[in-house]
Amino acid sequence: MRIKTKENASLLMALVPTLMVAGAMFWGGKVWWLILIVSVVVFALLSLFFLLMMKAYVAYKLKPIYSMVLSRDVHTTEIVDEMKDKHVENISEELTAWANDNDKEISRLKDSEAFRKQYLGNVAHELKTPIFNIQGYISTLLDGGLEDELINRKYLERAEKSIDRLINIVNDLDTISKLENDMNRLKMERFDIVALAKEIVEQLEMEASKRNIQLIVKGADSLPSKFWVVADKHYSGQVLVNLIINAIHYGKEGGFVKVKFRDMLDKVLVEVEDNGVGISKEDLPRIFERFYRVDKGRSREQGGTGLGLAIVKHIVEAHGERMNVRSELGEGTTFAFALKKKESAAN
Ligand code: ADP
Repeated sequence: MRIKTKENASLLMALVPTLMVAGAMFWGGKVWWLILIVSVVVFALLSLFFLLMMKAYVAYKLKPIYSMVLSRDVHTTEIVDEMKDKHVENISEELTAWANDNDKEISRLKDSEAFRKQYLGNVAHELKTPIFNIQGYISTLLDGGLEDELINRKYLERAEKSIDRLINIVNDLDTISKLENDMNRLKMERFDIVALAKEIVEQLEMEASKRNIQLIVKGADSLPSKFWVVADKHYSGQVLVNLIINAIHYGKEGGFVKVKFRDMLDKVLVEVEDNGVGISKEDLPRIFERFYRVDKGRSREQGGTGLGLAIVKHIVEAHGERMNVRSELGEGTTFAFALKKKESAAN
């Protein structure tokens, strides 16, 4: 018999004195049936006694650990109850699992704390540049630049550009924080995604013409289209705006930006394609991170905040979908995401 359980241990412990009692009785010349009866009774009583003692001892030893795990004062009887249908080994396994969970939680908290610090640092850094620029232009104007016809207008325009940049960063930060707090509060409605894309493309035509880029919405010839979806219209629009603006900014001068739709049974796949600079394989996994930019100079020059794709990812994931991107350096990039289809108002 292996002493793996407290029951086995108490049986073994009771066996030794029982044998001693039986031996003494046999030595004393007692009849066999009396020896048997006394031995059985002694064995049963001692087993029970050892079992109770052992439980009480283990419970006493486990009490501080249980109190720590459950964060309250645990009574010994509660632990004895717990041990009724559990072996001590199982309890130790449970405690080890709890300790592992705790370790994981602590490292998750550490990661999120490191992320929070880095994020805060990035926000401060991003805000600092335009603020210092504005300060510089205004100081120069106050120090006499205001009367200098050659620079006064130029510096005011530059200060205005920095203010626009500040507004863009603050607006994007505001959107991210709203998305983080209201993830579940999307206003789902049925709408024609092609019509929405067409509307957005019309608004961005001016921006595209600055780089002589042709904006094409495939499937927008006959509206209403066959691509009706159920999603948050405002946020879906924001995804399209951010992706199309990026495609214009990082697209090829004189090139194209195509918005395409694919039927995928119960979903519509929306793709935004450009034939621009493309993104290297090393940068591709990081472009959705907040403030990550492949080419910092180009991003700033185009008025980018480095938050556009982070917002896009947030919105698409809030709809229960995933952002996909494929890109070839120097060839172009295609961003894709799916939305749930809603054929008609009835279904
Ligand atoms: P930004 O405000 O800098 O555009 P985003 O979050 O929108 O920030 O994009 C992050 C980075 O991903 C950009 O700085 C750019 O380097 C890269 N990127 C985004 N879209 C494209 C694209 N269509 N083609 C090439 N690079 C892109």
